[in-house]
Amino acid sequence: MILPIIAYGHTLLKKVATDFEQSDESLSQLIENMWETMYNAKGVGLAAPQVGISKRLFLVDTVQLEKEDEEGINQVFINPKIVQEDGELWAYEEGCLSIPRITGDVERQESVTLRYVDQDFRSHEKVFTGMNARVIQHEYDHLEGILFTDRLKPLKRRLIRRKLENIKSGKIEVDYKMKFKG
Ligand code: ZN
Repeated sequence: MILPIIAYGHTLLKKVATDFEQSDESLSQLIENMWETMYNAKGVGLAAPQVGISKRLFLVDTVQLEKEDEEGINQVFINPKIVQEDGELWAYEEGCLSIPRITGDVERQESVTLRYVDQDFRSHEKVFTGMNARVIQHEYDHLEGILFTDRLKPLKRRLIRRKLENIKSGKIEVDYKMKFKG
């Protein structure tokens, strides 16, 4: 089932999400719905708060990016915790399904060490780099109530202020289902 994606301006996107206690049928159903929602909106990542659930869960599919120099991942991350970030800061133009038609350069570190559980609640600790790290860092931010627009340079933020206001009030056309504030 395709879920509506929460748009910029909704307070849910600013909340710190909480851990899942256990894996159950409703979690599997949520994950299935989130994959469907993400692909329908042509995203490479989606976090639970973006579909109105303030829980620590996100999905990443960077296989779609077909990058020659690195292998993509197609993975579910439950109760993730960033253990460490390493490497140089590098800028890349990011976008977000909750903030349609706005992109901007965000600086992030090259690699991230993540601790998380999978769908069977087995724990893992893994290092991710490059685009995989970037998408993970972006989705992880959603669980902390941080949006990529919060990480833009002040000048750029000023330039997109009007556009953000329009999204907030639902004055935007998107080809996937969205839920706006109020
Ligand atoms: Zn996002």
